[in-house]
Amino acid sequence: MNWWLIACKPKAGKMSRIARIKFLLWSRPVFRTCEIICNHAARIFERDRGLTKALAEVEELNRERIEHQKTLNRIGSSHDHVCAECKGKCCGGARERDAFTDRVLQYPETPHRAGRRKEGAMAAYKVMADNSSTPAVTTDAEPVPGFCPELTTKGCRIPYELRPIQCTAYFCNATIDQLSPEECNTGSEALKGLMNVQIRTVMLALKSRSRKQ
Ligand code: SF4
Ligand code: SF4
Repeated sequence: MNWWLIACKPKAGKMSRIARIKFLLWSRPVFRTCEIICNHAARIFERDRGLTKALAEVEELNRERIEHQKTLNRIGSSHDHVCAECKGKCCGGARERDAFTDRVLQYPETPHRAGRRKEGAMAAYKVMADNSSTPAVTTDAEPVPGFCPELTTKGCRIPYELRPIQCTAYFCNATIDQLSPEECNTGSEALKGLMNVQIRTVMLALKSRSRKQ
């Protein structure tokens, strides 16, 4: 190893630590806070299903959501083996994960407009039924008792781009350790993009209050 590499190594190590810490903060406390506030604000602000009357804007937000989720899927593919070993700890708890924003962006006419969906299927199933190019991932696999109803013995049934935003934004410490500084930075930008989509959904819901019938 030459002297230049020796001099640069600690600095590079410190930089990757900083990129990982930043990504962890975006992925967990910052994103989670934004997600909770935006979901509740959007559903409280929406009046008379006003988002169904702003279809062009909703479709644009949904397109952006899909692109950001695809980016997170791309950078996350380097840690598939970590998730396979862990068997989906972060999918634990037999509750539905889709939130108001997921439902209205994927299927604006969804009848499930409350904070939690207590019956019926995830909006992703409606999208998959209408579009045969995005089939459920593992329809024949068994569900895992005590976990999210979408988790099966072969992984999540929902294609990545149709998963609830909170599922794709979550990265545990073990997975973040697998990411390069460049992947962390790309991921941080995608997370900021998803938060931007959530905030603009709130603004659109607010605008729907003054929209003429
Ligand atoms: S993200 Fe972390 S907790 Fe979730 S399945 Fe992967 S390794 Fe397990
Ligand atoms: S929807 Fe999929 S990724 Fe999200 S918690 Fe359920 S099984 Fe896990």
